[in-house]
Amino acid sequence: MQIVCLDLEGVLIPEIWMEFSERADIPELSKTTRDEPDYDKLMRGRIEILNREGLGLPDIQKVVDGMRPLEGAREFLDWLRGYCQVVILSDTYYQFAAPLMRQLGYPTLFCHELIVDDAGRVRDYRLRLRDQKRESVRAFRELKFHTIAAGDSYNDTSMLAEAHAGILFRPPANVSAEFPQFPVTQSYDELRAEIIKASRGA
Ligand SMILES: [Mg+2]
Repeated sequence: MQIVCLDLEGVLIPEIWMEFSERADIPELSKTTRDEPDYDKLMRGRIEILNREGLGLPDIQKVVDGMRPLEGAREFLDWLRGYCQVVILSDTYYQFAAPLMRQLGYPTLFCHELIVDDAGRVRDYRLRLRDQKRESVRAFRELKFHTIAAGDSYNDTSMLAEAHAGILFRPPANVSAEFPQFPVTQSYDELRAEIIKASRGA
């Protein structure tokens, strides 16, 4: 049995915080871990900005609802889900990703959770599990799955290394240079071909 573990942002959908910051016209929200390496500080800052701007979960979801998956993502994912088991491993939040997951046909998603009060205000966040991408792949291996992982960025490289086969999809140049052991794909056709190549009688 085989399972493909896919990253979400940059592979199937745009970077949500960056896109959200543009659509909501709040430039400060485009900050990422590249600008603020302390993730907790980054998230606390984001939550503070949302509250300051009076943006509750319904407003956020309305904005995210206007986003679209990357072109060809739905077709690729539909093919993949017919080919073998698929799980999406992401560092985003369920409530943030919800409108995009609907557009992707509700694939299985493991990610984190925002703590929202009754008035819809974001109060806190809860990580499902530290280093969950890698831990999930490790657990699937223990469950005797042949594992293939694909992602675009630094936060994917530990799961790519943990899997039987790791594949990069449209990575930034520094990531592909630093991890030459992973094949690089630039289109869904190339990714599909790499997955088939790495499969073991799926
Ligand atoms: Mg990504």
